[in-house]
Amino acid sequence: NLDAAVSVERQDEVGQLAMAFNAMTVKLKSNTVLRQRFLAGIAHELRTPLTILKANLEGIADGVITPNVEQMSSLTEEVDRLTKLVGELRDLSLLEAGQLQAEFTLLDVAQLLREIVGKSKPLAGEKCISLRIETEDRLPLIWADGDMVNQMVYNLVLNAIKYTSDGGQISVRAAAENDMIKIAVTDTGIGIAVEDLEHVFDYFYRVDPARTKASGGTGLGLALVKQMALVHGGKIKAESTLGQGSTFSVLLPIDLH
Ligand code: ADP
Repeated sequence: NLDAAVSVERQDEVGQLAMAFNAMTVKLKSNTVLRQRFLAGIAHELRTPLTILKANLEGIADGVITPNVEQMSSLTEEVDRLTKLVGELRDLSLLEAGQLQAEFTLLDVAQLLREIVGKSKPLAGEKCISLRIETEDRLPLIWADGDMVNQMVYNLVLNAIKYTSDGGQISVRAAAENDMIKIAVTDTGIGIAVEDLEHVFDYFYRVDPARTKASGGTGLGLALVKQMALVHGGKIKAESTLGQGSTFSVLLPIDLH
């Protein structure tokens, strides 16, 4: 074993200790690789908007560019994306370090879904996308952090709108399943290929970088949704068929553990 830091020559306690040590070394090494990839990702994501801003500011200072309203608003968009990116990175790092904990209160999921769908309707309307809710009549209240659940579902709904063509359909469903509540967002959008599906929760992973960057995405949205589901003791699932649509589901425990 090339990764082994110490060789295991015995079967007794010392041998077992050596094996445990080797397993830990492998884990630490793979964490280092992930960390390096994460840092490289951040650097890459920061560089692009900063380069655009710098070039434009220099152009304005040199008198080569005369700023107009359109140009200024596209520069503001770059600043907005940087701000969003920094905010999401902050939340992700706090969540992962266990420093951003859920504040559990009794939450009416059906009511929350109505609010999210209400505020998303104008955006869906711009693309003639129908957006409906299907909830069980007697959905139980759950113990959860309202802000986080709001952020999770809103993120999924915004993604569904983003990746669905004009005239498509999106449904937001909630139902109790054993001791969990399942909130599922289904769209009739572009869908995701099997080989991409397993990566969509990774940091900065985008199926089509050009398309998502143009729509202001940071590539961190689903990673955040996943971390927030985890701090609730829940999970997230993605199912999709390329060209037909996707369903993203968040499962959250009904009661506190
Ligand atoms: P982004 O900010 O780029 O949207 P996300 O983490 O929210 O980042 O999503 C990661 C990638 O997963 C997206 O870039 C997109 O390629 C894909 N994706 C997410 N939601 C959907 C969806 N509903 N339909 C198709 N593809 C999706």
